[in-house]
Order: sequence, then C-alpha cells, then structure tokens
Amino acid sequence: MSSDCLFCKIVAGEIPADVIYESDTAVAFRDINAQAPTHALVIPRKHISTINDIEPEDQAVIGSLYIAAKEIAAEAGIADDGYRAVMNCNEGAGQSVFHIHLHVLGGRTLSWPPG
Ligand code: AMP
Repeated sequence: MSSDCLFCKIVAGEIPADVIYESDTAVAFRDINAQAPTHALVIPRKHISTINDIEPEDQAVIGSLYIAAKEIAAEAGIADDGYRAVMNCNEGAGQSVFHIHLHVLGGRTLSWPPG
C-alpha cells in the first residue's frame, strides 16, 4: 500500500466507494464521474503506479483485472452489445490517479478513436 494513494485507501476501506466486485487480487467500484451508463474502475489491490511499473510477476494480477471486467460487463448486461476496457498511462494519456485502473465503459455507443 502507498500511504498517499487514493485508490489504496479505497482498497483499505479508508475512503468510501461504491464497490461492485472484489477478488483476492482486484477491486472494482463505480467511477465518481461516470462517462457512460456503466463506468467502473477495476484496480489491483497491489499498488502499481502506471502501466510502465508493471513487472513480470504481476502478470496474474493484471489478468485478474480483465476477469473482473468481463464479469462486471456481464452483470451490467453490456457484454454482448459491447463495452470498452481501457487503461490510461501517464498524464499525456489522461491518467490522473497513479494507481493503475481499468476503465470499464458501456451502456452507450462508444466512438473510436477516443479523444
Ligand atoms: P484516469 O484519469 O484514467 O486516471 O481515471 C481516474 C478516474 O478516477 C476518473 O475517471 C475519476 O472520475 C475517478 N475517480 C477519482 N476519484 C474517485 C473516487 N473517490 N471514487 C471513484 N472514482 C474516482
């Protein structure tokens, strides 16, 4: 845990969040500023700041984020219509919280490429 990390505090239950999924390695909660009818953030319990900080031993943890994403999509009823699972890396791509998180977005038509 990183003591000054917002998402570590959510994992620890120190800051409230609308948690919708938990596993041994991942937690997911609703984004506070939803950009689509379904907008969840899937995070590893382990503090990893950016994609650039992922190590080979994190492979199973990273895989577990996608297992969470597909289960959230199925639960939300958007799995068949389609959804996006995307992770921003560093400020230039829009990352604002430096604990990696997979955005799971769906429930509306999503354009491509993203802005
Ligand atoms: P990013 O800009 O890719 O780093 O995404 C960070 C996301 O975290 C944004 O979509 C924010 O709306 C969301 N966010 C920030 N603080 C919270 C919070 N306390 N609970 C839920 N979502 C949050």
